[in-house]
Amino acid sequence: MPVSDEILLEVNDLVKHFPIRGGVFSRTVGNIRAVDGISFFVRKGETLGLVGESGCGKTTAGKVVLRLEEPTSGEVIFEGKNIVELGREGMRNLRREMQIIFQDPYSSLNPRMTVGNIIGEALEIHGLARGKAKEKRVKELLETVGLTAHHMRRYPHEFSGGQRQRIGVARALAVDPKLIICDEPVSALDVSIQAQVINLMEDLQNEFNLTYLFIAHDLSVVKHISDRVAVMYLGKIVELAEKAELYRNPIHPYTQALLSAIPVPNPTYERERILLKGDVPSPANPPPGCRFHTRCPYVMDICKEEDPEYKDWGDEHFASCHLEKGAPKKEVIATEE
Ligand code: SF4
Repeated sequence: MPVSDEILLEVNDLVKHFPIRGGVFSRTVGNIRAVDGISFFVRKGETLGLVGESGCGKTTAGKVVLRLEEPTSGEVIFEGKNIVELGREGMRNLRREMQIIFQDPYSSLNPRMTVGNIIGEALEIHGLARGKAKEKRVKELLETVGLTAHHMRRYPHEFSGGQRQRIGVARALAVDPKLIICDEPVSALDVSIQAQVINLMEDLQNEFNLTYLFIAHDLSVVKHISDRVAVMYLGKIVELAEKAELYRNPIHPYTQALLSAIPVPNPTYERERILLKGDVPSPANPPPGCRFHTRCPYVMDICKEEDPEYKDWGDEHFASCHLEKGAPKKEVIATEE
């Protein structure tokens, strides 16, 4: 499906802090700044990849967009409506339009329910189908995701990881959503199965006009499916651009390091791997200035004091870095498919 100019989801300065409590009175003694002021939009029919190491806040961002976690502040505008302001009833109606596929297909399906009941539950909750009509719809959905009607009487433990994720996809599709947040949907699967599930998701996107926010921990997974990619580090988006542009011309040193970690499918080709020093700092106490400065190979004095502006470097290529021309170009860029 061609990507529309119309914006389906807009996130403005979204913040999610989790209080740290301590002392005998359980007072708030600090905050885990999981998401610390992120802004992006997703067009209708588009896939926006959201990438970062574990602990960068990407999964929390996905949950806050769906209001599975309440935001600390900021706006989530879906089809022109700020859903942060919606009450329970308003959110209930909206749940149909926004679905999530979870990372772990082993724990996200109730082991005591048959596949038919898992998929059919959403149809009943939203009053979409009951009885025979529900059964017919469940069968259709199973076939849509590459399973068969007789699978509906089976239990999740009888399926492989890839099949379970297909069941998760069918459950998300059951209510005819517009937006699906895909929270690392393939990272628990074997590499050979990952491609099958990603291809399935792409086919479904075309067939059902879906829009995806696709969360992943490395840039190789989102490369195929995304139209644009956003890179997150320690609660902030540090770079966002159209896919080919980001992979060809990364501005932020962190993006460059992530790109250098993508394996090259050519054993004779050597590419410099950028190894970042140290671990990701704690989101409870992020470094001052640029949050990446404790690990950045190009750190300057200004980086330790001033947070670089997140700005457009041209053609909707956004990044935040004090380097005048961005990260020096290296042979780290992933080859085009
Ligand atoms: Fe590195 Fe400084 Fe750019 Fe941060 S602002 S990414 S520390 S060069």
